[in-house]
Amino acid sequence: MSTRHEDPIILDDIQPRDLDRGARAELKPLTKENADWVARHLVAASLALETDPHLAHRHALAAARRAGRIAVVRETLGITAYATGDFGLAVREFRTFRRISGRNDQIALLVDSERGIQRPDRALETGRAVDRSTLSREVQVALAIALSGARLDLGQTVLALSELEIPQLDPDRAFSYSPDLFRAYAEVLTELGRTSEASTWLERAERAEEALESKADDVVVIVEIGDDGVGGVGGVDSVGGDGGDGGVGGDGGVGGDGGVEGVEGVSGGDVEGDAVSGGEDGGSADAKRAKSELSVGSRRQTDRASRQDLGTIRHGDGNSGDVSDADGALRAARHGDKLLGGASVAGTPLSGVDAVFADLDGVVYAGARAIPDAVESLRKVAVRMPVGYITNNASRSDSTVAAHLRELGLDVAPEHVVTSPQAAMRLLAEHVAAPARVLVVGGEGIVTELERLGYVIVRSATEQPDAVVQGFAPEVGWRDLAEAAFALRSDEASGRPEIPWIVTNMDWTIPVAGGIAPGNGTLVSAVHTAAERMPLVAGKPETPIFVEACSRFGVRSPLMIGDRLDTDILGAHRAGLVSALVLTGIDGAKQVLSADAASRPRYILGTLAELHETYPVATVAADATVTVGQARVRVEGRRVVIINSGHNKLDLLRAGCRAIWDSSVNIHSMDVPEELYR
Ligand SMILES: [Mg+2]
Repeated sequence: MSTRHEDPIILDDIQPRDLDRGARAELKPLTKENADWVARHLVAASLALETDPHLAHRHALAAARRAGRIAVVRETLGITAYATGDFGLAVREFRTFRRISGRNDQIALLVDSERGIQRPDRALETGRAVDRSTLSREVQVALAIALSGARLDLGQTVLALSELEIPQLDPDRAFSYSPDLFRAYAEVLTELGRTSEASTWLERAERAEEALESKADDVVVIVEIGDDGVGGVGGVDSVGGDGGDGGVGGDGGVGGDGGVEGVEGVSGGDVEGDAVSGGEDGGSADAKRAKSELSVGSRRQTDRASRQDLGTIRHGDGNSGDVSDADGALRAARHGDKLLGGASVAGTPLSGVDAVFADLDGVVYAGARAIPDAVESLRKVAVRMPVGYITNNASRSDSTVAAHLRELGLDVAPEHVVTSPQAAMRLLAEHVAAPARVLVVGGEGIVTELERLGYVIVRSATEQPDAVVQGFAPEVGWRDLAEAAFALRSDEASGRPEIPWIVTNMDWTIPVAGGIAPGNGTLVSAVHTAAERMPLVAGKPETPIFVEACSRFGVRSPLMIGDRLDTDILGAHRAGLVSALVLTGIDGAKQVLSADAASRPRYILGTLAELHETYPVATVAADATVTVGQARVRVEGRRVVIINSGHNKLDLLRAGCRAIWDSSVNIHSMDVPEELYR
């Protein structure tokens, strides 16, 4: 075997047999000479990884040049690329490894590498697409840490914490993965200002580490570290099983919402997005923090990469002693039925999802009537997982909404309804604590929530409110808007500090029986003009409402279903949730084809019945032809070409979306055949 000049030198005492048997078996398709040569480079890479990652990387590159089709080689190259900070290459190699092997062993490093190239959204999406029950406990933990890091990147600190609240977060017992998990948990607690809990978990991490070090080196050991009297901190209990049940009894026939006829949900209109969303402190601080978190997270992962690599290459994964040399049997023994996993395998939109969040208007009902298939389908979902109803409508309380939904035939309790006033309460609590005085511009929806939490409601600026909360109600009048403006206007003469202004949502219009009417955004805008300030927004597409919902149900990977790209889908995207657009409401084919990157749903559904059907996988050929079912679409320059319409209009739309979204051409300069959106 001739050595190329760029190949690093291998020391003589490194022998092919030093490679783990499982990995050696993977090299069987190679000639004996080549296999031995590749094996030695893999061992050298493994040995050098901790002390000299760049040298390790050169060894991995050398192996990959001669054995590019072998999974363990691509896996090793991914790990060394990761260790040297070349995250772009790491992403490519880990994806290739997964494609060749069908295995998700490196999912955590893949997710973390996506973070490394500033794609936290993609990181979340990648991590959530995996069925975690098929992963080993160690990989589950590593994945949770990586996902938590991605949440931090996005400024979603509360969700970052809940990503780590997995069964392995057990304060009483230590496994090899415990110190990392405990430390990550402490880090997020610190971020949330819960410093005493943070130091408790840091102590646990240290104790676990000491205990583990005194035991055998690489094996998983169980060490009792409990008995410190602080057990149970951290909400592990909430992970167990009672995170909402969705299928609560309850019956129809409850007196309805007669008083709000004609105001069927605040929707409609454009949402001004960033212009309003940032609030007065803007997003730059978040961005900065996200950046620093990113590097911290990546460093943390790099440490783990080193250990993981040694595991993969030198010692196998603990089962290597049992495996047969036959390649197929080897895989089966090491990975059980996981071979059937893998990201490209089709599932339903409910696959890998732990809850469903549904918007109301345009999704569950239109006006007074239920939308076809919606009720039946959501009842079916509720048997399997919690269903939450997420509404920007601030004029109705959760029990009024629940009563309406029960009339339509859904088993819904008030706690299954998450309203923008409730999200506003979460925001409010971050600024002022009950029993502070709150000036309300709005109706029942807000007043109910404030009273529930013990705030004192005032209606005039002269009552010295500590905050203003504003949401839509038909009875809001000029006097209310004026009082809010008086209270919000900072008064330098009196030395009174500026008080927080929290609004439920920024929907500009609201469809009512008589037509389109001004919505909350319009009324907020009136106050803004007088007070010369910007509000903090709680509802969709801002994230507080999603954070409230996730924490209420104790879930991490919900599917958000909506009919509007600019609120439901954009909001889900910002909150890091998977989303589905259902074409029964406001937005249709034309809008979704031209959606910008932040407003593109993962799924496009005709009706909610499709939640229970296999979602077709889109495949992309080398010439960029996208195939979904029988539909085939390709972008050629500025033309979108339908190669085959197929017989399913939805598949054609899905293929069209994928082709257009993947192309670098702006939709507005494209020639799009009408058939795609007719
Ligand atoms: Mg809607």
